[in-house]
Amino acid sequence: MILKNIEMQGFKSFADKIYLDFNSGITAIVGPNGSGKSNISDAIRWVMGEQSIKSLRGSKMEDVIFSGTEKRKALGFAEVTLTLDNSSGIFDIDFPDLQVTRRIYRSGESEYYINKTTCRLKDIHELFMDTGLGRDGYSIIGQGQIDNILSTKSEDRRQIFEEASGISKYKYRKNEAEKK
Ligand code: ATP
Ligand code: MG
Repeated sequence: MILKNIEMQGFKSFADKIYLDFNSGITAIVGPNGSGKSNISDAIRWVMGEQSIKSLRGSKMEDVIFSGTEKRKALGFAEVTLTLDNSSGIFDIDFPDLQVTRRIYRSGESEYYINKTTCRLKDIHELFMDTGLGRDGYSIIGQGQIDNILSTKSEDRRQIFEEASGISKYKYRKNEAEKK
């Protein structure tokens, strides 16, 4: 799985549009406290459909939008686009790259796009299912999450193994079929 790049504007401390290229062997992001390192991993989880604002270290979804500083006024929206390599075909789309975009306005409404085509959160969720990425993936382990995994209920822990072994999708489809 190759994370190619991330582009964002108005997300948390990143008021200006920024573009981070991960192509050239980047393995770590370093910087002083409060410089925005964790905000980058928040942006990655957010664009993949994270709905829990608590896990994004805010109290309401609007908190991901740049809230202004002494010198600069707050912005009205935040947007993040993540590009992932799809040359292995891990994602069920006919493109060599997968590009997911999420935008949020102060009203709280989120818009999602897959390769620039508008889609539902559900589509993003299904796309990442069983890849280890996405909202329920285990590729991003937050501070304190290891403790959570160890102390959690066995059913919740089982979900991590189901995602890793690639059976989440089948369970999900079965549930969806039963709803109909
Ligand atoms: P540490 O080394 O302490 O973990 P870090 O580099 O991970 O630091 P972050 O947590 O990514 O730092 O960034 C925190 C900064 O982001 C704080 O200065 C905070 O004020 C700023 N910030 C968070 N949300 C917003 C927002 N909505 N608007 C503007 N700034 C924000
Ligand atoms: Mg941090």
